Amino acid sequence: MKKVLVLGAGQLARMMDLAGAPLGMDIKAFDVRTNKVVHPVDPEHIYGDLQSGIAQCDVITAEFEHVAHNTLNECEKSGKLFPSSDAIKIGGDRRLEKALLESCKVANAKHVVIATKADFDQALKQLALPIIFKSALEGYDGKGQWRLKSLEQADAIWQEMEAFIANATSSVAQGIVAEQMVPFDREVSLVGARNTHGEIAVYPLTENHHTNGILSVSVAAPSEASLQSNAAEVFKKIAEQLNYVGVLAIEFFQVGEELLVNEIAPRVHNSGHWTQQGADTCQFENHLRAICGLPLGGTQLIRPTAMVNVIGEDDISDEIYSIPSVAMHWYDKAKRDGRKMAHINLCGKDEVELAERLVQLSSLLKQESFPDLDSFAKRYL
Ligand code: ATP
Ligand code: MG
Ligand code: MG
Repeated sequence: MKKVLVLGAGQLARMMDLAGAPLGMDIKAFDVRTNKVVHPVDPEHIYGDLQSGIAQCDVITAEFEHVAHNTLNECEKSGKLFPSSDAIKIGGDRRLEKALLESCKVANAKHVVIATKADFDQALKQLALPIIFKSALEGYDGKGQWRLKSLEQADAIWQEMEAFIANATSSVAQGIVAEQMVPFDREVSLVGARNTHGEIAVYPLTENHHTNGILSVSVAAPSEASLQSNAAEVFKKIAEQLNYVGVLAIEFFQVGEELLVNEIAPRVHNSGHWTQQGADTCQFENHLRAICGLPLGGTQLIRPTAMVNVIGEDDISDEIYSIPSVAMHWYDKAKRDGRKMAHINLCGKDEVELAERLVQLSSLLKQESFPDLDSFAKRYL
């Protein structure tokens, strides 16, 4: 029985455990807040500290990229960490991430790295408005971002960012990446896996919708073959450059036929949750297979599938279960505003049926957490 230690004890570690159990895998999670190794589904059950967790497992992986570097370094020393600490650190630092994209020669938004006021002035010269500023470290769900639409806001924004940089507590210096805003047609992501033998399998492109900076809906439906193969090519370049092992997600802005990389996530990803119902092998199982050196499972789309995030809500009408194909996935977390509490997967025999079911589902959820009849549904109804 393979023993896997996951750095992080959130919903992604939990779903890895739920996918790994039928494969006879033993999954434990390292809670970075308490520094304890715990059961991923029952975090009250404590096994011990990181050192004993490392000693007792066969393979170590991470469910998020913002893991303290000393923890990553310790895991790396054991020779059991997949993906590598370098890949995880790159995913957790937008400066390193941009450098990686440049070295792979993949298209991305024009950007300037900022540490000082002089860099900020340089960014205003080199980039046209509007500009989005993102913290180099620790950002997720659109947190740690500033948007500059007119030059009158520049001083105020710089003062906020300067204070933000000065107050950073990380062992690595905080900084900012300024990016040209991309007038995208839609946002898509590609989730795929590369195993220890270098074998690659990617899922179909997924269309993503955000509400208040948080992913709200992902839809997996067939994309144009050329777009899919462009995305797969970018995946291969990045994964091979990193000698990557595990599931990797790449977020793109689609502008016409062109794909610009927004960011990468060195882990299983929210936009891949639909694979639990829409593919033969879900991203959690494929991640485990990849890091344990097993052949990868099927990534083809079985039927159009959508994932709806349940955000800041813990009381949903049982009526949702009357919608055919609904699959509910609660994370067993305490309710908090803006917190991802669960997700719901939904399938249809075609895009029309899926769109109809999405509309039905949205009428049963809190309206502010659901984009007003999202553009996918509109397109097909
Ligand atoms: P995540 O939760 O996906 O990790 P994050 O906090 O890392 O989010 P980004 O994905 O970089 O942040 O940005 C959040 C959202 O803001 C994007 O999905 C997109 O909608 C918008 N955005 C970010 N950068 C740009 C850009 N350069 N041009 C246009 N929109 C952008
Ligand atoms: Mg991110
Ligand atoms: Mg993102």
